[in-house]
Amino acid sequence: MAQNPLQSYFRQPSVYITLPTQGKWYTSQDVTLSANNELAIYGLTARDDVLLNTPDAMLNGEALKKVIRNCVPDIHNVDALMMPDLETIFVGMKIASSSDGVVDIHKTCPKCGHVCDFELQCQPALDNQVIIEPNDGVCEIDGKLRVFVKPYNFRQRGIFIQKEFEEEKMLKTYDITNPQSNEFARADVMSQAIDRISSLTFQLVAGSIDCVEVIDSGQLVKDQESITEWLMNISSTQAETVINAVDLLNKCGPDKSLTVTCTSCAHEWQDSVTYDPISFFAKRS
Ligand SMILES: [Zn+2]
Repeated sequence: MAQNPLQSYFRQPSVYITLPTQGKWYTSQDVTLSANNELAIYGLTARDDVLLNTPDAMLNGEALKKVIRNCVPDIHNVDALMMPDLETIFVGMKIASSSDGVVDIHKTCPKCGHVCDFELQCQPALDNQVIIEPNDGVCEIDGKLRVFVKPYNFRQRGIFIQKEFEEEKMLKTYDITNPQSNEFARADVMSQAIDRISSLTFQLVAGSIDCVEVIDSGQLVKDQESITEWLMNISSTQAETVINAVDLLNKCGPDKSLTVTCTSCAHEWQDSVTYDPISFFAKRS
């Protein structure tokens, strides 16, 4: 096929980012990084913009995958992308797609209840991003085992969203049901919900463990089945140690800290930014 004479007028990459994971955990089939470990990002096309503003399309991860593949062609396997990297990619896409690189944010003042609108600058969020160092993501269980964890990937992000949804639904069930009537029915619904939530939590933790080292012998256990069976037989305190280590990694990436000053009463408080594509790219009407 002849080359399109308009090819050189296609949009060019306008932003280069450093991934917070620095590519650790990826194979060359997942991502191709440049020689200096950077990734080129293109701005959204009109089609991407439509996809990102169709809530139904966004709820299934496929639409988001399409947009990521289109804006970051060097990513070959979106499922493998880690949360902190995803967030940095979203910020990069925002900078590449807008002339001013700002996002409108709305926060409610905890003192007077006023909803404050202001602009978040994307470039400083990238400049101050938290990079995962080679020794991060290791925790010890009782000085006997060393557990190597990784952040959630795109696929686990889907499980995480489902878990948050189940938790919200459970709270609503709890609120709506009249506590005097039908106590047993409610208890049943609740226990089913708790089962679903704990199963999702389990999937999240199991999928975040890379390997377990037996400290005394130095033996490395990578077999996922052995790791899953071990997870099912440890105490909740021990599981908590693993979950906390994964959470720490998930929090890396673009700067999430935010100091807000109320535009009505001048109260100042510490808040945080969520780099979720639905709130981040959706247009407000
Ligand atoms: Zn206020």
